[in-house]
Amino acid sequence: MKLNNWIHGQGVAPSSGLYLDNVNPKTGEVCGLIPRSDRTDVANAVAAAQAARRLTRLERSELLIAVADAVAKRIPEFAAAEAMDSGKTLQATTHGDIPRALDNLRFYAAALRNDATACHQMEDGFNYTLRQPLGNVALITPWNFPFHLFTWKVAPAIAMGNAVVVKPSELTPTTATLCAEVFTQVGAPNGLLNVVHGLGHEAGEALVQHPDIKAVSFTGGTVTGKHIAGVAAPLLKKISLELGGKNPSLVFADCDLDLAVAGVARAAFFNAGQVCLCGSRLLVERSIYAEFVERLVAEVAAGAWTPGESLGSLISFAHREKVAAYVDLARQEGGTVVCGGNRVGPEKSAFFEPTIITGLAIDCRVATEEIFGPVVTVHPFDSEQQALEMANFVEYGLGSSIWTQNLTRAHRLAERIESGMVWINTWNKRDFRVPFGGMKQSGVGREGGRYSMEFFSQDRNVCIQL
Ligand code: NAD
Repeated sequence: MKLNNWIHGQGVAPSSGLYLDNVNPKTGEVCGLIPRSDRTDVANAVAAAQAARRLTRLERSELLIAVADAVAKRIPEFAAAEAMDSGKTLQATTHGDIPRALDNLRFYAAALRNDATACHQMEDGFNYTLRQPLGNVALITPWNFPFHLFTWKVAPAIAMGNAVVVKPSELTPTTATLCAEVFTQVGAPNGLLNVVHGLGHEAGEALVQHPDIKAVSFTGGTVTGKHIAGVAAPLLKKISLELGGKNPSLVFADCDLDLAVAGVARAAFFNAGQVCLCGSRLLVERSIYAEFVERLVAEVAAGAWTPGESLGSLISFAHREKVAAYVDLARQEGGTVVCGGNRVGPEKSAFFEPTIITGLAIDCRVATEEIFGPVVTVHPFDSEQQALEMANFVEYGLGSSIWTQNLTRAHRLAERIESGMVWINTWNKRDFRVPFGGMKQSGVGREGGRYSMEFFSQDRNVCIQL
């Protein structure tokens, strides 16, 4: 499959004529070609966005619903494309990623109709708030949930009246292109949604720099996010940064053990650990430590997380080597691999076993750096205070989960733990309306519900003298 950019409502080849390989990480085979776009393609896309006819509020809501309805009729096609690009199982994309993306579109179609602004009364006057679009916005997305994160940004950006230029990950380009085609097919004005493929430091950076781009919504790694902030901030662009994580799961002796074992395994291994929110640092109260590790290993052995069956591959061969290198490093740092630790599957594929490591110091590299693979380190603690200090030790602050039946303790910890999202006796349970985002090195800003709608618009005040 040879993809093109989607600019002004049509497929457009990159101006350079250059393409990148799209590799299926389950087989190592080239499954398609992706435009290697440059500054010229970005300029064309932004010009198309600038010229796009703007829709009324009702038309925007109806457009998002029409797109969701049209994609819903093609779920097998979208799910197959997503599984091919990302290495996920077809089961996961068919029942997880694609339906979730449709929910994003439908949620913002409805939220838009419910949006309202404030009126502030004074003794002798009143103020009302005008909420207006920003203009043209850049949306830059990673590879771990390609279509979900595409719609997570596109839906609120378009709902609020902007035209958009999306730069999807070069590793997972297909569903963004398919969806852009659908926008045009269901009647979106040309240029309202543009997709430019290519490398981050080429197409992505040109997009961030473009003077007619008013805001940048970025999800990806912390190093990239800092770089983008360095480019966009002096240009006074609005920026939202959703970045990396090294998230703790805190397990107390009074937890429901069955629930905690299953939940902690899911937090560690879902999507092969390639989730910004993954619980990759497991802190367990010492009195149940040995039993908990044993049960976690048994949970993996029972087959719930088997690569090639219930679990997809990692995103690429190169990424698998990075994950494997961290397991080697764990051994050098004094850790014991009690489960997994190996590459599996065909030679050129990117499958890796769910891996549990014990015996590491809480401050070593493997326990503090984002690995972004199916690797969890387990550490015992002796008190609630120590668990909190261990949880807050890392530079990241995205998500955390607390497993205890003592809700007073859970509330107490939730207030003091440094993470944007805290789950109690669950993990990654999501409601579209709640604030999503990180503290510390995990990002700046909040997404979801009204937070995304506020990001993609600007409020202005009008004051009337009575
Ligand atoms: P990445 O930072 O390498 O790339 C993300 C996107 O940025 C890609 O589209 C890439 O092409 C683009 N990019 C790279 N350099 C750029 C530049 N100089 N200018 C503009 N764009 C550029 O991240 P990734 O490897 O695709 O994704 C994995 C990372 O994403 C992990 O760190 C993970 O934690 C993070 N992530 C965070 C969240 C969140 O909500 N906080 C969600 C998913 C993933």
